[in-house]
Amino acid sequence: MTANLSKEELELRCKQFDENYKYVLSRIEAAAQKAGKSASDIQLLAATKTVPVEVINHAIGRGITLIGENRVQELCQKYDDLDKSATRHHIGRLQTNKIKQVVGKVQMVQSVDSLKLASELSKRSLDMNLTTDILVEINIGNEVSKSGIPADETEEFLHQIATFEGIKVKGLMCIPPICENDKEIRGFFDKMYQKFIDISAKKIDNISMDFLSMGMSGDFEQAIQSGANIIRLGSVLFGAREYK
Ligand SMILES: *Cc1c(COP(=O)(O)O)cnc(C)c1O
Repeated sequence: MTANLSKEELELRCKQFDENYKYVLSRIEAAAQKAGKSASDIQLLAATKTVPVEVINHAIGRGITLIGENRVQELCQKYDDLDKSATRHHIGRLQTNKIKQVVGKVQMVQSVDSLKLASELSKRSLDMNLTTDILVEINIGNEVSKSGIPADETEEFLHQIATFEGIKVKGLMCIPPICENDKEIRGFFDKMYQKFIDISAKKIDNISMDFLSMGMSGDFEQAIQSGANIIRLGSVLFGAREYK
């Protein structure tokens, strides 16, 4: 897929990325330090929806090692031209009828929120003789409009999918509600971290709690404070988008 942007516009987008990236890295560094961690403990996932593949490849050339798309169609359009040296995650809502197109193209699906989805991912991955890593998405704010497993059903859900072959649970992710202030957002992130720790301690067979994916452009520093080790950043790296 080539973008409909002129050479000059692409160059400008790349230049803007370079400036944003430098600033973001310094913010991650500072937040990690404040949390008593090293920046290297935190994986930066570049959320690349709407970003032209030329700009994504530029970002990979500058050091981005992990990218996430949230529309299967968009991933497929960009896929052939994408620099494959970065790890690819699916981060958005995933319909079961799109699974065929995504398995094999991404190493991880971050947004598993139903038994059906887990089961279909398992089947497809087995068919293709590969393992797809997954994170379980938690609806930490119990919002009706949002996908995700209710927080208090997490453990039961994990037990249900633990034996599925072809997938491997690696942790949890969430998109918290829109919050008014720092304290409120930290409340949701802390609750996620507690869940993450509680489940780690239970040592469920075939389930590992390696990754806690939370924090976006507007709240990644708070997420780091609460214990996130994957943050997913889009607009703060690539500029504002027309759609979410
Ligand atoms: C778009 C998106 C992000 C990044 O959003 P920004 O606010 O632009 O940083 C993170 N996670 C998911 C699931 C997304 O869809």
